[in-house]
Amino acid sequence: MRIIHVAAELAPCAKVGGLGDVVQGLAHELVRQGHDVEVILPAYPHLIDKPPSLPFTLTLLPHPLFQRPHIYGYDDDVQRFAHFSSLAAKHIASQSYDVIHLHDWHTALIAAYLPRTILTLHNLAYMGTCDPLLLQELGITLDSTLQGSEGYSLLRVGIVKATQITTVSPTYACEILTSDYGYSLCELLQRSQYKLHGILNGLDTDYWNPATDPYLPVPYDATHLDGKYQSQRHILQELGLIHEKGPLVAAITRLVWQKGPDLIAAAIEKTLLEGGTFMLLGSTADAVTEATFYALRERFPTNRLHMTLHFDEALAHKIYAAADLLIIPSRFEPCGLTQLIAMRYGTLPLVRHTGGLADTVQPGTNGFTFEAPDIHACLSTLQEAFTTWDQATTIWKEMQRHALTADYSWQRSAHAYLTVYSGLKTYLTHDIVH
Ligand code: ADP
Repeated sequence: MRIIHVAAELAPCAKVGGLGDVVQGLAHELVRQGHDVEVILPAYPHLIDKPPSLPFTLTLLPHPLFQRPHIYGYDDDVQRFAHFSSLAAKHIASQSYDVIHLHDWHTALIAAYLPRTILTLHNLAYMGTCDPLLLQELGITLDSTLQGSEGYSLLRVGIVKATQITTVSPTYACEILTSDYGYSLCELLQRSQYKLHGILNGLDTDYWNPATDPYLPVPYDATHLDGKYQSQRHILQELGLIHEKGPLVAAITRLVWQKGPDLIAAAIEKTLLEGGTFMLLGSTADAVTEATFYALRERFPTNRLHMTLHFDEALAHKIYAAADLLIIPSRFEPCGLTQLIAMRYGTLPLVRHTGGLADTVQPGTNGFTFEAPDIHACLSTLQEAFTTWDQATTIWKEMQRHALTADYSWQRSAHAYLTVYSGLKTYLTHDIVH
């Protein structure tokens, strides 16, 4: 099959979060399974300067609105990606293809221009709300189906126009039919259920592999876990940390409301008060969040609390390997990759039971979970993890074995996408704008 992905991110060369990992992992697996894959991205200046070498075709479409140092974070992000989508649709229109796979609001608009599209919803909290004039300027005919209580949004246009819609876990596919998780789009999603599928993300197990990871001081796998503990000692030393009590706890995340930064702060405090050690790798563009975490850091000894508050790919790999417990107290989590990476590195996840976290972490088997998104529930589960560590080493080791041997590779997920793609081949017509 000839499959074209159009996205804002691609890991690791243009990555902000999990979206980049998913586009890279799925494209790579589709190539492995013998398909012809093209990924289209905006021509970010750093990619033009240093084009990555990839197992699939990468097309970079130049546009003046992308001559900037960052991927997102500009006031005109919605205009930038709407114009990119229109440009990408024109580029694709002259080609033959079986399927166009769109990702999130950034590229959802393409579904209004071309047939045989699948739109993956990675996170409904970001809709690309826009002025209707922008849509008209780009040739979209406005009608009542495109307007909701949020006004107009690129994501709504994509959901209405896409041939099929997927989201990144079965539980999130159910959650988004409620207003708590689907927001103003929940009624449209309920009406679109006939074309909605929940497909769990996979993990690129070649890239995230403790046996070959070039960032780790000592390689290891499920049968040679001593390498994990040697790596742990090296990394503790590199970060100037000591670890005397309990599991070595960590969090690796964007520090936004979704990810429960208040619960992470409370978990840091409890871990330190218990005599434990915590490593936080959190990215934030918000000065207040940054100041709150730096103030917390001031209250504890520097040899038991490490904080890096920006994106650092190398450090992420080291922390996944060094930690014993990774906390992910998300208020909602469409799929979540950090729990999958943690398990691959023999680190038990402690998660809130929501979305893809609920689909991948089974309490007592491969991690710890709590239900209510509040500090009390989070901290009592953290206490349970400390108690298991202290009193039930064999249970911890058994859970670690389950985590290390689970199969969250892309193979199974890619198979599910291919089933949806095959269905698209029968759609030959569609209401096309141009
Ligand atoms: P989201 O896409 O919502 O941010 P996911 O769990 O799906 O969350 O994916 C997060 C990805 O981003 C993982 O690969 C994780 O390792 C990475 N990541 C998050 N924060 C950082 C950071 N500060 N530095 C390096 N990698 C990070």
